[in-house]
Amino acid sequence: MVPIDNPVGLKFDPVGPMLDFGPMKRVAFSSPLHDALFVGPSPITGRGLFAGCAIPKRAKIGEFEGELIPIAEARRRATKLRIVAIVELDRKAIDARGMRTGFRFINHSCAPNTFMRRTKDRAEFYALRDIAKGEELTVDYRPSHHEGRLRCRCGAPACHGWI
Ligand SMILES: [Zn+2]
Repeated sequence: MVPIDNPVGLKFDPVGPMLDFGPMKRVAFSSPLHDALFVGPSPITGRGLFAGCAIPKRAKIGEFEGELIPIAEARRRATKLRIVAIVELDRKAIDARGMRTGFRFINHSCAPNTFMRRTKDRAEFYALRDIAKGEELTVDYRPSHHEGRLRCRCGAPACHGWI
């Protein structure tokens, strides 16, 4: 297990402002819970995002970070990419391509332990229950761009079978 490195090397107010900087409009978020997250091998698939400390139920864990782009541009990109790391908001989208850590690594589960709340320009993640240190974070992706065509390997007893 490798501790995450902050990809932009910046620390912000722990209440969590998102800041734009540079032409790529990368945004960064920081809080003690968020900064303790780490990426590691996942029993679900590929790499996953893990809690680096205990996270209490209902706590805000962090935000999906990336480039804020118009939704039409996000859909244009999504059709060209095999691996998509885009969250669609109401009129914009966040593309996490190139991010080396963070919520772009969160895996889907049909019985997730986090909830993603979308606002106008943010996608925030909250704990649905108490999460133990070292536990993999999961979120329900549906509806996703896979439109139910990707087989789910989450292993939850109530797994829907497809994402
Ligand atoms: Zn499942």
